[in-house]
Amino acid sequence: MNHIESLEGLRAEALSAIAGAADLKQLEAARVKYLGRKSSLLQVLRELGQLEPDKRAVVGKLANDVKRDVSEALESREGGLAAAAREATLKSDAFDLTLPGETVRTGRVHPLNQTAEEIVQIFRSMGFEVADGPEIEDEYHNFEALNMPAFHPARDMQDTFFIGSNLLLRTHTSNVQIRAMKSRKPPLAVLAPGKVYRRDSDITHSPMFHQIEGFMVDERITFGHLKSVLSSFVRAIFGKTRKVRFRPSYFPFVEPGAEMDVECVMCDGQGCRVCKSSGWLEILGAGMIHPKVLEHVGYDSEKYTGFAFGMGIERIAMLRHRISDIRLFFENDVRFLEQF
Ligand SMILES: [Zn+2]
Repeated sequence: MNHIESLEGLRAEALSAIAGAADLKQLEAARVKYLGRKSSLLQVLRELGQLEPDKRAVVGKLANDVKRDVSEALESREGGLAAAAREATLKSDAFDLTLPGETVRTGRVHPLNQTAEEIVQIFRSMGFEVADGPEIEDEYHNFEALNMPAFHPARDMQDTFFIGSNLLLRTHTSNVQIRAMKSRKPPLAVLAPGKVYRRDSDITHSPMFHQIEGFMVDERITFGHLKSVLSSFVRAIFGKTRKVRFRPSYFPFVEPGAEMDVECVMCDGQGCRVCKSSGWLEILGAGMIHPKVLEHVGYDSEKYTGFAFGMGIERIAMLRHRISDIRLFFENDVRFLEQF
């Protein structure tokens, strides 16, 4: 058969098949039939070389035109069919744009870290810097250097997690005080937040909890500085009008020692179950650093004085957010955590 006629016929047949394809599957079948490796069009193109030169040019041009026309028709029909398929899916799925989307839960800072960060910021604004120390500590830095010799009751096995003969999980962040003072000379104003460990567990005690220890050492530091710094802290965290009081107390590493109470945040001093009707809540221990502690780190206790204080971060967070059970902080129940 005449090549020209057969190519023209092929083009008409292919274009009509493409126009008549009802879906993408039928269209693909048409592509294979008219442009595939076994199609008559490719057969013609392969055999061009056997034609006489003048005929070769005419047939070759026509064959390429047909190929281009069929390709373009395929492409355009494919676009139309794909859009129709999309439209059909949207209709059959009855997609409702007004339905609410899935809620994406965002994480947030743990209430204990929020509280710790807030406390740190308050003391930073008064010139304190933050220091860190090991949670696994030796007896010297946790007890001995803090004026708690071997017979001291706080060193009892009942209260401390020992790891081997000389190592333990620190029972307070005061070890940082010793390490910081040993490595540096006064003046010093340091804050040490961190985890501490004691063998204690009930609704107000956790075997692992967080403390913030702070201390200041220089020439002529007095109890007045201690009162001023800690009163400023309480006003910043519990409100400007919140009253405070200091009671004498005993800690082996300070002399004199004191406990600081804040006017009950639940009843504003009226007396309630939380403050046991006293109107006051104990929030921290403090005192003037014991001369023996200063001597342990090589400071001249005649020349330098200092104060130190320590508080439980859980205690402060529980009072601020009126939480009654310390264990809630460590259960990681998002229904609890997402309230902060
Ligand atoms: Zn109260």
